[in-house]
Amino acid sequence: MGNALKIARIGGIDVQVHWSFVLILFYGAYTFGQGARDVVAGALYGVVIILLLFLCVVLHEFGHAFTAKYFGVKVPNITLLPIGGLAQLERMPRKPGQEFLIAIAGPAVNFVLALLLLPLALLAISMSARGGASFSYFGLMRAAQSMSLTGLLLSLAVMNLTLGFFNLLPAFPMDGGRILRALLALRLRYVRATRVAVLVGRGMAILFVMWGIFGGGIHGALFLLIAFFVYVGGRGELEAVEGRYILNDFSARQAANKDAHVLYTSEAVSRAVEYIMTTYQGDFPVYDLGHNLVGVLTRPRLVETLRMQGQDGRVVDVMIPRALVPETSGDTPLADVWEKMMASGSRVIIVQDQERFLGLITLDDISELIQVMGAAKEREDVIAGGPGGRSDSSVAGAHSIADIN
Ligand SMILES: [Zn+2]
Repeated sequence: MGNALKIARIGGIDVQVHWSFVLILFYGAYTFGQGARDVVAGALYGVVIILLLFLCVVLHEFGHAFTAKYFGVKVPNITLLPIGGLAQLERMPRKPGQEFLIAIAGPAVNFVLALLLLPLALLAISMSARGGASFSYFGLMRAAQSMSLTGLLLSLAVMNLTLGFFNLLPAFPMDGGRILRALLALRLRYVRATRVAVLVGRGMAILFVMWGIFGGGIHGALFLLIAFFVYVGGRGELEAVEGRYILNDFSARQAANKDAHVLYTSEAVSRAVEYIMTTYQGDFPVYDLGHNLVGVLTRPRLVETLRMQGQDGRVVDVMIPRALVPETSGDTPLADVWEKMMASGSRVIIVQDQERFLGLITLDDISELIQVMGAAKEREDVIAGGPGGRSDSSVAGAHSIADIN
């Protein structure tokens, strides 16, 4: 997450604020300042309320973060955005029970806060309205809207209840959706549980869109944003889970390109162009004259080279040195290889057994394999029928708990 300012480090977790967070402060100042008798005081009150609200959001995220840490998952940071918080988890645990607890811990924090705030607010009301304390609905509404300690406490209690319930909506990958997936995964195969949760999430996204269109105002825009997040986030996680499910059946050795054309350090880049024109290959291992692997020339690197210096450059000058390319052993499950590539941001990985180079695997190979073997696996699943044995695959891809509040 770029453009974020670090404001604190708590329990080994960086708390960051995205610059756009300032917008929501202006929004608070405007909303409360506009109708107030004293505009400045109203605006200040608005800023205070928003800051306290987001303090509750941070506590919600720490609920997720500390539960995740308890299960041994690293949490590098928590980021505050205008639409909510984001706790970045290094990975989502393999066990549904753990995902369930991590997801439910956030809303649980809000319910606890509401439980603590409500008695305080009621106490403040009965103290301020000596004699005739009114706990009627309208009395409470008036108190919540007044610029006072009572109003602040009541508003925060209501906001925490709203945060808690809203995040429990089954809109995967929101908290409620994760809870739903975890519960489904107790009975269904992980990949199927994810499919169902994503489908339910899409239904929720459609409701959010309708709310966004007919609800109107700034809240309407917010709901459209939430719907977009639910749709895109859900699709990303589903692709990751399905990909992992398919790749788990293969090892790096099986997928390594054994008969690939190789380049030599002394050759000109034009050689690679020749291969690209006449074969399906786009990425090349580079050998020195002693036949040792010393680097890789990827297609994006080749394109960049051609643009900058034409076909005359030498392979040795433009290749990616071996030390910068991730490596894996032949026995590593392909699902883990994929995860390693994603984590390192590399489009190729070297498959190596002891000192023997087995071949390269590229992201293109992986997506091709997911597509082709996915079709075969779908047919197998249909033949096998029923929920069957639960697979032990875990979640890859998007490893964050995002909250929209
Ligand atoms: Zn949450």
